[in-house]
Amino acid sequence: MDPKRWCVELNDGYFIPVPGFGTYAPEEVPKSKAADVTKLAINAGFRHIDSAFMYNNEEEVGLAIRSKIEDGTVKREDLFYTSKLWLTFLRPELVRTALEKSLKKLQLDYVDLYIIHYPTALKPGEELLPKDEHGKVIFDTVDLCATWEAMEKCKDAGLTKSIGVSNFNSRQLEKFLNKPGLKYKPVCNQVECHPYLNQSKLLDFCKLKDIVLVAYSALGSQRIKRRVDQSSPVLLDDPVLCAMAKKYEQTPALIALRYQLQRGVVVLAKSYNEKRIKENMQVMSEAVGIGLLKNIFHKCSSL
Ligand code: NAP
Repeated sequence: MDPKRWCVELNDGYFIPVPGFGTYAPEEVPKSKAADVTKLAINAGFRHIDSAFMYNNEEEVGLAIRSKIEDGTVKREDLFYTSKLWLTFLRPELVRTALEKSLKKLQLDYVDLYIIHYPTALKPGEELLPKDEHGKVIFDTVDLCATWEAMEKCKDAGLTKSIGVSNFNSRQLEKFLNKPGLKYKPVCNQVECHPYLNQSKLLDFCKLKDIVLVAYSALGSQRIKRRVDQSSPVLLDDPVLCAMAKKYEQTPALIALRYQLQRGVVVLAKSYNEKRIKENMQVMSEAVGIGLLKNIFHKCSSL
């Protein structure tokens, strides 16, 4: 069984491969690294690449994708690339421009999935995080249903195959689902999800509505100092994960990734280390008992 072929069908008929490769790295990591690791990830078998306008690495990730297409490793249609609409572009008239900016950086004709990064609008402009003279973030007032209609137009224009959301709660999702004249449902909701925040209620809601939950920070996040309390427990050191890893002769990371797959969650894994990139792809190997996932995921013929 080819591990690259595992995927789940989205509610618009496209397929999203599991797992996905996360490309975000903090500012201090040289951007060129994003290109190197994306190539390594594709070589290792990842077919789903996750990035965003906000990560400021789409030029490098696009370069890596195009180089792996040029060297014959993959075809464009083998890959599933996700980009995200940043918060300063949530006004409906800015949505298509934002996606076109990403496509220009990527030098691709389309993305496979375009998602609203957060349900929070910020003041439009050049600054990713616009702030006032007191250092406070400047928000914007936008009707997100109008933003969604602009997302639908991007799909109709062929700039993205699928559209979805990120960091939405069930109430925010309901707003879209109940919107009069809704043309396309969100295909996914990408949220923080790991054994310390398992999102079980949101997952039940998403399953009920045929929306795929995509887990980020599934390995416990990069614990970036300015964002994460450094005294909080480290997920991959968790005694239960470590005991399970020992019992099943796997690593804690593989247990954490496999946990998501067994609950029907598409999982992202970020690593900028070749050994760990290869290790993470093992989550789809026979050795980890992939056969058990047959009832959850499809073997996608087009991938
Ligand atoms: P993560 O996947 O939770 O990974 C956290 C850390 O685990 C990485 O820094 C990595 O360090 C380490 N790691 C990876 N594989 C490992 C292994 N096999 N054993 C031990 N350690 C391992 O990181 P994340 O960036 O928080 O989330 C993943 C992706 O989700 C992001 O890159 C981004 O694409 C997306 N994301 C989306 C949002 C959103 O708002 N939608 C928010 C956050 C993240 P090394 O690099 O040193 O291996």
